[in-house]
Parts: sequence; structure tokens; C-alpha cells
Amino acid sequence: MSAQMHSTAVPAPHAVVGHYIDGRVVAPAGARRLPVYNPALGRPVREVAMAEAADVDAAVRAAQAAQPAWGRTTALQRARVLFRFRELLTAHAKTLARTLSEEHGKTLADAEGELTRGMEVVEFACGAPQLLKGEFSEAVGTGVDSFGIRQPLGVVAGITPFNFPAMVPMWMFPVALVCGNAFILKPSERDPSMSLMLADLLRQAGLPAGVFSVIQGDKAAVDALLAHPGIAAVSFVGSTPIARYIQAEGVRHGKRVQALGGAKNHALVMPDADLDAATEAIVGAAYGSAGERCMAISVAVAVGEATADALVERLRKRVGALKVGAGDGAGVDMGPLVTGAAQARVRGCIDDGVREGATLVLDGRGLKVAGCEDGFFVGPTLFDHARPDMRIYREEIFGPVLSVVRVPDYAAALKLINSHEFANGTTVFTSSGAVAHAFTRDVEVGMVGVNVPIPVPMAFHSFGGWRASLFGDHHMHGPEGVRFYTRLKTVTQRWPEPEAVRADFAMPTMK
Ligand code: NAD
Repeated sequence: MSAQMHSTAVPAPHAVVGHYIDGRVVAPAGARRLPVYNPALGRPVREVAMAEAADVDAAVRAAQAAQPAWGRTTALQRARVLFRFRELLTAHAKTLARTLSEEHGKTLADAEGELTRGMEVVEFACGAPQLLKGEFSEAVGTGVDSFGIRQPLGVVAGITPFNFPAMVPMWMFPVALVCGNAFILKPSERDPSMSLMLADLLRQAGLPAGVFSVIQGDKAAVDALLAHPGIAAVSFVGSTPIARYIQAEGVRHGKRVQALGGAKNHALVMPDADLDAATEAIVGAAYGSAGERCMAISVAVAVGEATADALVERLRKRVGALKVGAGDGAGVDMGPLVTGAAQARVRGCIDDGVREGATLVLDGRGLKVAGCEDGFFVGPTLFDHARPDMRIYREEIFGPVLSVVRVPDYAAALKLINSHEFANGTTVFTSSGAVAHAFTRDVEVGMVGVNVPIPVPMAFHSFGGWRASLFGDHHMHGPEGVRFYTRLKTVTQRWPEPEAVRADFAMPTMK
């Protein structure tokens, strides 16, 4: 591979964002390149190199060379690298958030929140010595003991979406690394700079070269990762059609796969809910990050006409007052969409909602932001009287569009939510413990909130949806993440009586 070297610092304006292989940033000469946009301005700010199979192979070889020694270090030593990484993330949070916001478009406060949620997984992974403790059974036979240990898989890969360029990779690699694996990240080509900044901080934290790599690219890179015999497992987060493909292809190539897909998250609003609190919660969850969150609320299911009328009236007032602008603008609630294509698709969904007969209460299609006239903005949009057969209800819009569906009672609401193709998250707003109890038991969705709008599990629990929102058996991070990135070995042993040993009077320590 003919390679041009770059520094691992923040990718400069107009730089080519390269791969990170064997501890160095490389951008192969003559590689395909794509523009990376500042979506608020609607202009390219840098380019990203697109990997081919040879680049993927170089990363896998470097990872295979580095992993055995890394896997043999103690869990405590690996955790110490992550402790340092966590401190570096804190020290560089402002710079990271600025670059994240520049390429994604989300507000600075939202970018900092994303980093915090990623850092919490790093903190979880710092507990590796505890997390990797095995099981032990004494005297399973005469003089025989048995125990189970969890060992690394080897080299594993993560393929991530544009909407959380820091947090979603951090759902994966802290746990994978601390379990003793080498990790290859294939981030989204739309906001690739974060991956190199994270790689640089891992290097500064003392992670050996080759243990963490980054491959920039698109389908060519993904297909090369899926087919490579040197990769034992693949974690994926992205849209459902690609998640389905990743799982089928990964399994066909004999890999362990967890593939998280799209979503259509319903907020059920009961007549006994505190409507003011529910409105605030729904507005934040529907329009935060311009609706580009897999846990965004995109449907409000109002039980009863009176509840629906009161909710829509409150939403209309509150949503109509939201401030839209560049992510680094003062007092901005919501930034642009990530690309011009995303903007066109979301506008098309709104067109279809109108054509299919939903009531358009607030229309964001024509929004222009002063000073950002070419930005990829769509204003906050609100539909009432949406129906299950409409495109705006069936499809994941992934934009600032909230649809209110009116149902007569709780049973109809539950049936509606349980019938949707997606089952990532849902939430109920109610003041009834009985309703909350029944809902959490009966709703067929992976992550459930009660008066909590975005029930993203904390790092020490596991994240994942049901039905078309997740393919594979394991959710991400938390205990499920540790299980995904390790394999169980069970040992049965018999030993002769021990020999006498010399006493050691020093405090025993890990060397
Ligand atoms: P995407 O599916 O387009 O891309 C995800 C990754 O797959 C990227 O790295 C991309 O380069 C790669 N990719 C794209 N097309 C491919 C193809 N044909 N073959 C192989 N690889 C391909 O998703 P996105 O637009 O970046 O992200 C938004 C989607 O991610 C939404 O559907 C959202 O719900 C979902 N998401 C889900 C979760 C979750 O936890 N379930 C979290 C975040 C985002």
C-alpha cells in the first residue's frame, strides 16, 4: 500500500481523513475520496479516503499481530489504559464536541451529551477485572474442580452510523478492547473525523499499535471486513436493511454478529398523564438532534380525543417556538440534517404525509436559516391524525417530524405499538402505576420508558431493540457486551497435593 503519513491530531480543514493502521494515519495515494460536509453551511470541509479490500487486509494483519500480546495482558492492565483514555476524553471534550458538531450538525450541548454517554461505557469497561470474573465449582468430583473463563475472540470489527460518531463506536470498542480483543472501526463516511481523534487518544493512553484500527469507507470496506477470515465478530449499528444484510453475510462467513437497525419509537400518552410534562419530554425527544436518533420519539399515540386535542395544542405552541440554526449557534435547539440527500428524503416524507391525508400542523419544508442559506435544514414538523397505513407512520423518517396518532383506548394503543415493524424504544406517560406496570410487562419492545422520554439504558445495562431493530442475540455494552466479545471456556482439573512454598511477606500485587 503506497501511503502518505499524516499527524493524528484533529483533521484540519480540507484535509483528507485517512485510515488508522498499525498506530499510524494513512491515506493511500490514488484512493477513492468522498467529500465530508459541514451540514449547517452545506459545503464540503474535508475529504475522506475510501478503503478497498487491500486496506482492510492491512488493518486485519496489523490487528492479528498485536492482539495475542494484548490479550495476554491482565484485565487490570487493560483497564488502566481505558482509565487514561477516559481522562483524555474529559480533557479534550470541548475539541471533540466541536469537530463532532461541525461534521454532524448537532448542537454543541448535544455533542457533549453524546460524548458523556460514550464515556460512561469506558467507565463501565474499566471494571474489567470484575466483569471478567469466571464461575468456579469446587469438588465437582473427588479432588476435581471446575471453572469457566471468558477469553477474547481475537480481532473484531465495528461498523457504525453517522448519527453518533463518538457514542456508538464507544458502545463497542471499550468493551471489546478491555476483554482483550483487537478492534477495527469502520465509521460512517459522512462524519469520519471523530474516529481518528478517538484513535489518537487511545494511542496517548498507551494502547499498543495495531490493537485499535480505523478503516474509512463504504460498502467496499464493509464487504471486505465481512468476508475477511481474520475477523471473528462484527458489531453493526445503522439502518435496518443494512443491519439485515450484515447479519446474513457475517453469519455466512462464520462470524458472530450483533446488528442493530432502525426504529419508530412511540410515546403513549394516557388521559391521566401530566400533559405539560409529557409535552416537554416529547418535544425534546422528537426534535433533539433534528430527530436523527435511533431513540427519537417519532410517534405520539394519544388515548382519547380530548387527550389528543390538548396534546396537539401544547405541541403546536412549543414546537413552533423552537430555534433552528447551526450547531454552534447560541440558544439553538436543533441543527440541520446531515446531508442534502437526507434533507430531500425528509421533505419527501412530509409531502407524502400531506398527500395521504394527515393534518399538517407545522410545516418545516421551507425553512431558511439566516447566514446558513445553503444548509441542510428542515424545520420542526408536526402531523396530527396520522394513520398506520401512511408512509409517515410506517417508515423511519430520521428527521424532525412528529406524528400524532389518535386511538380510542389503551388496548388499541398497545396493539398498535406491538404491530409495528420496529421495536427499539417506547415510553408511556401516565400517573397510573397500574398502567405503567401493565405496559412494561406487555409491550413488545426492547427498551421501555415510564415518564422517561428516551429510555437509553445506562452503560452497565445493555442496549438493544426487538424485531427489525436488532438482528443477532446480543444487545450492546453492559453484561451482554462482555458476553458478545468473549467466548466461554470451561476447565475441569485435578491436581496432586501442593508442594510446600516459601512465605512471601510483601503485600501481594499485580505485576
Ligand atoms: P446506514 O445503514 O446507512 O449506515 C451505517 C453503516 O453502514 C455506515 O458505516 C455505512 O458506511 C455502512 N453502509 C451503508 N450502506 C451500506 C451497504 N450497502 N453495504 C454495507 N455497508 C453499508 O445508517 P446511517 O444512515 O449512517 O445511520 C442512521 C440509521 O442508523 C438509522 O436507521 C438509525 O435508526 C440507525 N441507528 C440505530 C441505532 C440502534 O441502536 N438501533 C443507533 C443509531 C442509529
